Amino acid sequence: MIYSDQNIFAKILKKEIPCEKILENNFILSFNDISPKAKIHVLVIPKSPYIDIYDFNKNASKEEIVGFWNGVNETIEKLQIVDNGFQLKVHKGETGGQEVFHFHVHILSND
Ligand code: AMP
Repeated sequence: MIYSDQNIFAKILKKEIPCEKILENNFILSFNDISPKAKIHVLVIPKSPYIDIYDFNKNASKEEIVGFWNGVNETIEKLQIVDNGFQLKVHKGETGGQEVFHFHVHILSND
C-alpha cells in the first residue's frame, strides 16, 4: 500500500477539514475522535505521512519517534488523565480494524 494524502487525517493536517484540537507541535496533532467510544477519546497522529504503526516504526526517524511519543505524553498531561489512567489502542491494517490509513494512536479514558 502507498500512503494516500487523500485520507481524512491528511486532510485534517492540511486544514481542509476541521478537528477539535487538543494539542499541536512540530511532530504531532491530537484531537477528539468524531465518534467517541469512551468519555475521553482522543487520537494522536504524527505530522509525517506514515500508513500505520509498522510503517512508522520501520521508517520514521528517531527524532520523529521520540517526538511522537512525547506528544502522546503531553496530550495525556493536557487531558489530566495521567494519574487515573487510560488505554492506548492501535489498529493496523483492515484485519486489525484500521479505517484511516495515517498512523494514529487512540487514547481512551472513562475518568
Ligand atoms: P481506526 O479504526 O483505528 O482507523 O480509527 C479511525 C478513527 O478515526 C475512528 O475512531 C473514527 O471515529 C475516527 N475519525 C474518522 N473521521 C474523523 C474525523 N473527521 N475527525 C475525528 N475523528 C475521525
